[in-house]
Amino acid sequence: VFDVSKPWLDRVVAREPRQTLKAVDGVSFEIRRGETFALVGESGSGKSTVARMVVGLLPPSAGEVVIDGVSMTDRKDAARRARLRRRIQMIFQDPYASLDPRWRVGDIVAEPIRAFNLARDRREVEHRVGEGLKLVGLDPADARKFPHEFSGGQRQRIAIARALAAESDFIVCDEPTSALDVSVQAQILNLMRDLQDRLGLTYLLISHNLAVVRHMATTIGVMYLGRLVEVSPARDVFAAPRHPYTRMLLDAVPDLAMSGRPRTPVQGEIPNPIAPPSGCTFHPRCGLADERCRREAPATIEGVACHAVAEGRAGAARPARAAG
Ligand code: SF4
Ligand code: MG
Repeated sequence: VFDVSKPWLDRVVAREPRQTLKAVDGVSFEIRRGETFALVGESGSGKSTVARMVVGLLPPSAGEVVIDGVSMTDRKDAARRARLRRRIQMIFQDPYASLDPRWRVGDIVAEPIRAFNLARDRREVEHRVGEGLKLVGLDPADARKFPHEFSGGQRQRIAIARALAAESDFIVCDEPTSALDVSVQAQILNLMRDLQDRLGLTYLLISHNLAVVRHMATTIGVMYLGRLVEVSPARDVFAAPRHPYTRMLLDAVPDLAMSGRPRTPVQGEIPNPIAPPSGCTFHPRCGLADERCRREAPATIEGVACHAVAEGRAGAARPARAAG
């Protein structure tokens, strides 16, 4: 039994050695139990790298991932680490690629049940598979079919059933709907929210789609060039984004931010991460950059890494338009 008052993911501190490409650099955040923490940023920001570190697909070359008080990067306490690994599963972007076409759906969903010895015999495996398919809105009889017999949305339901079959309660979702038709995306997101409520799931959501993030997130972490530049409650991010990069992302989709401003496309491009700009790596794209920004990387203060915000020269956070 886990203490729900404690954070599920205590912290992810990932650091890459100076000589190599820094996919992530000093990223540190925590995720509360039952919430949806969304990592956003343009492609190349390092958000997928962080997701892979959390599920253990990619060990950080330095730093640590601490989950439920257990360091996943520490060699001690292997048994507890293995139990935690079972509870953390991942849903990938492309359900076409993530399901083996040669396996029947029943075997796909049964795989974690068998791997983690969660059932006594074949009948119990079948029973659990049927329950898992019902949970995601499919028919237990679908267990006999192959992935190609299903639509994209149904395949993502199968992937969710497989993730949950491990009795997991922390699900890392990397762009879970971006390979799906728009009409199907909302169904899958609503299913994810429904399952979160019913099963008390915690989500780490990776998405570049702010509409998806707005629908799902309780907390948002904004990544830029491998760094977390802002962490704020989702409501605050959409009402009054603080970091200049967060503002730039939101200004590209003003209807979401409800700012009443005209749309401003994202300016400039992500620099080469092998030779990142000096100081604040966002400075070549930032309208508020000054000499200090070019020289000195900003510390993170109250969730935001920006000199202008810290110095009070970023202006008032943009007011939200009245709802309605
Ligand atoms: Fe812009 Fe300077 Fe803030 Fe970086 S530190 S986001 S360059 S104002
Ligand atoms: Mg990605």
